Amino acid sequence: MALFRCGVCGYIHDGDDAPDKCPKCGAPKEQFRKLDAEAEKKILKSRKTNEMHIAISGLYAKIQKWAKTIKEENLDPPCVAIADRVLKDTTETIQMIKAELEGHMKKGKWG
Ligand SMILES: [Zn+2]
Repeated sequence: MALFRCGVCGYIHDGDDAPDKCPKCGAPKEQFRKLDAEAEKKILKSRKTNEMHIAISGLYAKIQKWAKTIKEENLDPPCVAIADRVLKDTTETIQMIKAELEGHMKKGKWG
């Protein structure tokens, strides 16, 4: 088992050999390069946490919809204050996650 990166689009393939063609961009097998041990280790170590960051962002997006509904209902000021705080906190955290994942991509911790 090894990792192969498409030289055209960056798609990462897990397997014993490169695929006949890239599932994403259709580039031929010759465009794939086997990743060295260090690059492979970075990707394998970061996959789980990258997926968790993405899942957290998805959950926070759902939470934001609920907070917006609470604001629209406008039941009373303390109720709206909680919704405002939830929107602020989740927005900041989602943006932090985006910045972190962008850093992972630039450092080869993605794929
Ligand atoms: Zn490709």
